[in-house]
Amino acid sequence: MDILYLVIPCYNEEAVLDETKKRLEKKMKELMKAKKINKYSKVVFVNDGSKDKTWEKILKFHESNSMFSGVNLSRNRGHQNALLAGLMTVKNDADMVISMDADLQDDIDVIDQFIEEYKKGNDVVYGVRSSRKKDTFFKRNTALMFYRIMEKMGVQIIYNHADYRLMSKRALEALSEFKEVNLFLRGMVPLIGFSYTTVLYERAERFAGESKYPLKKMLAFAFDGITSFSIKPIRFFLFLGIFIFFCSLIILIYALIRYINGAVIWGWTSLMVSIWALGGLQLFAIGVIGEYIGKVYMETKQRPRFIVETYLK
Ligand code: UDP
Ligand code: MG
Repeated sequence: MDILYLVIPCYNEEAVLDETKKRLEKKMKELMKAKKINKYSKVVFVNDGSKDKTWEKILKFHESNSMFSGVNLSRNRGHQNALLAGLMTVKNDADMVISMDADLQDDIDVIDQFIEEYKKGNDVVYGVRSSRKKDTFFKRNTALMFYRIMEKMGVQIIYNHADYRLMSKRALEALSEFKEVNLFLRGMVPLIGFSYTTVLYERAERFAGESKYPLKKMLAFAFDGITSFSIKPIRFFLFLGIFIFFCSLIILIYALIRYINGAVIWGWTSLMVSIWALGGLQLFAIGVIGEYIGKVYMETKQRPRFIVETYLK
């Protein structure tokens, strides 16, 4: 039977942890009893440099039941880094790993479906929110906009999927080949490939405590997501530069006609043409330099160039 690990990043979550532990304990026991998972399965809390009693709580859980274990990070590094730290730490001990938030917003009853899909041969199972009814109008629409922009920028992400997902051991192995420092797991996991599927679930409200993602962090996250995956913004300026340079040629013709007709004051023609021509050329040049910087940027990521799915011996 396969070993399941749940990986849960926690940052100042002392208000929710007791309840989370209680519910997960029940869930894990049910799954073990139903012989869906191995009895050596575990729940791993990753303490992301919390300033409250989160780590003390995790230690206590571990003492009371070996099903609970923890990873303590040296300092706060943010959700994505904490999650990756957890995944990479447990990947050799588990056959499948599910990542979820500490605040019980992700419906833990869909874990059964995750495991079923895994047993059907899927290496990645994405939890997808079926609706955003409970979100505020603002969050719902900014989130929607975010997915749209990402799509336009050519970043492959699963619509309405946060970081609630199951990954198999080999999917985690593949993820470990991505050496990039700017983490945006939602964009990285689809790059791994393998067979995957999605499972719908209803996202609840935060059980207790408050969101660790205020607007400022949310915007930074979205911006990071775009700039770590796409060099399209750079290319945009390249094309804008070319476009403006062509405009300058039209303006040159227009200005010359006006000049020949004598309908202008002295200096207007040369000023007009140089503003447009120089502006266009400059943007064009920045765009070209940007193309190279974009390439350097992509190279420095040292992403794997391929990932082997099956190896016939
Ligand atoms: N989190 C973390 N480090 C941080 C911020 C958040 O590990 O610096 C964790 C947090 O404890 C939670 C998850 O990331 O388990 C998602 O955070 P939150 O629920 O606050 O985000 P929201 O659901 O409001 O988007
Ligand atoms: Mg939350």
